[in-house]
Amino acid sequence: MNVYDGMRIASMLRGRGMTETDDVAAADLIVLNTCSVREKATNKVFSELGRIQKRKRPDALFGIVGCVARESGADAFRRIPELNFVLGPQSYHKLPEILDNPDSKLLNIDLSGLEKFDELNYSNLKPQTSNLSYIPIQEGCDHFCTYCIVPHTRGRELSRPFDDVMRDVHAAADTGAIEICFLGQNVNGYKFSLDNLIRETAKIDSIERIRFTSSYPTEMTDDLIALFGTEPKLLPFLNMPIQSGSPDVLTRMNRPYSLELYIDIVNKLLAARPDIQISSDFIVGFPGETDEDFEMTCDIARRIKYINSYSFKYSPRPHTPAAQFPNQIPENIKKVRLKILDEILTENNRAFNESCIGREMECLIEGPDKTGKHLLARTPYMQQVIIAANNLPPLQKIRITSANKCSLRGEIINLKS
Ligand code: SAH
Ligand code: SF4
Repeated sequence: MNVYDGMRIASMLRGRGMTETDDVAAADLIVLNTCSVREKATNKVFSELGRIQKRKRPDALFGIVGCVARESGADAFRRIPELNFVLGPQSYHKLPEILDNPDSKLLNIDLSGLEKFDELNYSNLKPQTSNLSYIPIQEGCDHFCTYCIVPHTRGRELSRPFDDVMRDVHAAADTGAIEICFLGQNVNGYKFSLDNLIRETAKIDSIERIRFTSSYPTEMTDDLIALFGTEPKLLPFLNMPIQSGSPDVLTRMNRPYSLELYIDIVNKLLAARPDIQISSDFIVGFPGETDEDFEMTCDIARRIKYINSYSFKYSPRPHTPAAQFPNQIPENIKKVRLKILDEILTENNRAFNESCIGREMECLIEGPDKTGKHLLARTPYMQQVIIAANNLPPLQKIRITSANKCSLRGEIINLKS
């Protein structure tokens, strides 16, 4: 979601005639887009702002947007009086106001609902030309997991109207998108039927790949699961975080599903689409997590053979009940557990990547790598493939020639334009 927000901000400013630069000293405007899901990321924000302040031109405008901005509010101006703007995750569409009034201080941390989507629809943005288009369909979250700050920073759950989303999908297709990724904190909780949205999107000829992220386990409806078997454009990859493999920890996290239910959903997905790959997020060291609880998390990670997963050390966050729970786990234990789980997740990736050697897959070209000698592409399972080429049409049949734990290498089979 943050990557998407960053793209929208860049696109909005391009629409105002600005161009991007990596050079802080050359910039007229510096926007730090922030995340407050974990404490470490939050702490980095103010030190980074200090660094920017030293390097920027004296007349350049700078400020923060996103969840740390919402968290800090006016306090950010007290910490760094030179800041020009502080805009929350639902108010960054107001950023141009600072360009019109550079001498003012712009503060807006309202949860203004869907307003930003109305202002930042495709017709108001400089068209993107990427093969992949992220389209948000839902904002905020009502699940209130006991560790999570998102319901506080992004607010209550809201779904964008179906027609608004479809208008963005058509606009994305018109500007060259081949793949659509629907976004939401709780994307499958989309109120106006995610399966209908996927079916409608699949009717557009030029859209060849569809996916969505992140899914909440208990909101996976049978209709949505069935679609993995019947809609060939829906990619065989699903991000459905389990967070922990321990029933006790799940209860304390306020994640109200049993392991049996979760595994049942995975089995239904596999029955609908036998090659589907699942990815998860995990939290280790949640308050009260015992060695046995942690072992259950490792077991489920091995058993479901998740790929492309993320694991985090539990980070106590303001406004969340878990921060006050007893038996907070010491940092050194969290660190050891994270390392053990990461090894399992890496091994899953390596095993799946190696199983792909020799297979032919249709991949989406994402663009050149840093050297400019290779192209980076994505398989239908979201693995990265490196191809020795520098210019190819957006969808390519690729034969996988080698693999390691992070990526694949492949060669072109036949050109598809
Ligand atoms: N809505 C999604 C995830 C959104 S936040 C879901 O529920 O699956 C992204 C990830 O950050 C979460 O899945 C969780 O693993 C992690 N996360 C959230 N709060 C955290 C915290 N306090 N400490 C550590 N990780 C956290
Ligand atoms: Fe946070 Fe996801 Fe839980 Fe919502 S479902 S509270 S976003 S972890």
